[in-house]
Amino acid sequence: MPHHLSLYQTAADFPVELQTVGAALAAGITIEATCPRCWGARAVDLARIISLHGPGYSLIDRQTFCTFRPGCDGRVRFRYIGEYGMKTMESEQGRAWRASRDR
Ligand SMILES: [Zn+2]
Repeated sequence: MPHHLSLYQTAADFPVELQTVGAALAAGITIEATCPRCWGARAVDLARIISLHGPGYSLIDRQTFCTFRPGCDGRVRFRYIGEYGMKTMESEQGRAWRASRDR
C-alpha cells in the first residue's frame, strides 16, 4: 500500500500508541516529519515535543510550516514506521479536508 493512503478513516481510529506523542514515545514508535515540497525529512524528537506541548499532544492530521529549507512554503506532515513501512499519520478524513483547501 502506498504510504499516502491512510489505513484509518478518522483521527480517532488510529491505534492508541499513535494517538498522542506521550504514548508514541512510551511505545518506542519512530515518527518522521516530511515536507512534500522540498523533500526535507527528519525523525521527530518526541521528548522535545512533549516538553513543548505536553504528552497529550497529537500529530495525527497535523501540519506545520516547513523549516527544512529557507523560503520553502510547503507544509510538513507526519508519518510513522509501521509493521510494513512508513505510513501517513493523516486520516482519510484529514486528507479529504486538506485536499479541499489546497486547490
Ligand atoms: Zn519544505
